[in-house]
Amino acid sequence: MVRLIAAVCIALGLAACQSEEPTISVSSQNAGDNRVAKHLFGAMQTGSNQRSQSFGGYARGCQAGAEQLPETGPTWQAMRLSRNRNWAQPVTVDFVQDLSQFAATQDGWEGLYIGDMSQPRGGPMLTGHASHQTGLDADIWMLPPDRLNLTAAERENISSISMRRSAGAYTNSNWTPQHEAILRAAASDPRVARIFVFPGAKVAMCNSATGDRSWLNKIRPWWGHHYHFHVRLNCPDGATGCTNQAPPPAGDGCADAARWVNNILNPPPPDPNAPPPTPRAELTMAKLPGQCVGVLNAN
Ligand SMILES: [Zn+2]
Repeated sequence: MVRLIAAVCIALGLAACQSEEPTISVSSQNAGDNRVAKHLFGAMQTGSNQRSQSFGGYARGCQAGAEQLPETGPTWQAMRLSRNRNWAQPVTVDFVQDLSQFAATQDGWEGLYIGDMSQPRGGPMLTGHASHQTGLDADIWMLPPDRLNLTAAERENISSISMRRSAGAYTNSNWTPQHEAILRAAASDPRVARIFVFPGAKVAMCNSATGDRSWLNKIRPWWGHHYHFHVRLNCPDGATGCTNQAPPPAGDGCADAARWVNNILNPPPPDPNAPPPTPRAELTMAKLPGQCVGVLNAN
């Protein structure tokens, strides 16, 4: 299965592969609504005036009552403001602020630069991510912030830096113990379900982790994710209508990460019997939870 997903991801490009998509059961409330969801959600400029709630799954859902992460705080700055993707559920906004406070205790880090969270009402996007739809995902830049007074223009133009070499089999010299400490803190937070990062980083953390290794379970090797890591939160307690992903398999996942690295260094020959990749189908409103129509229509 992993190999099939790999083949599909390589064929489609990485943007389509930033989530391990869970299966969602869809209500029939909006059956037959064939409007393309990304056009509707991509046009929303503000959150909905509703109680904060996530509906559906990370790659097939939406969010009501989103909060906006303030563009600048004592230990963070939101980047690429023109994208208007610094919206999320309150739990995610809190988490990002808490993690940035921890990051600011690390040598060389004034805090965190925060990449994409979700659109004001979540949902599919016109460009980029397949996931980030329910206000529970956040991309955190790997670039250590040396100042938190970047102008809006600087936030459009500055790039993060890559942490990988050998196509992600290994970390490069930009990778530091501080990166590991921040990822460990994120993975140890009970609000977090999983974190996506390139395979070489996971193996590096497997090799240097001391003491309790249970947090490694949530660090998942994935394609891309060498300029940023992606934090995915659990559905908040009691959030009916929000669909969690199955938890990662038990254990620290280090053998699995080593297999990813081995497959990068020694790519298996293509499977001649593999079916041709099918492009990801456009999400229509009918494929989203019924509540997402209400989220779109709310003030
Ligand atoms: Zn992401």
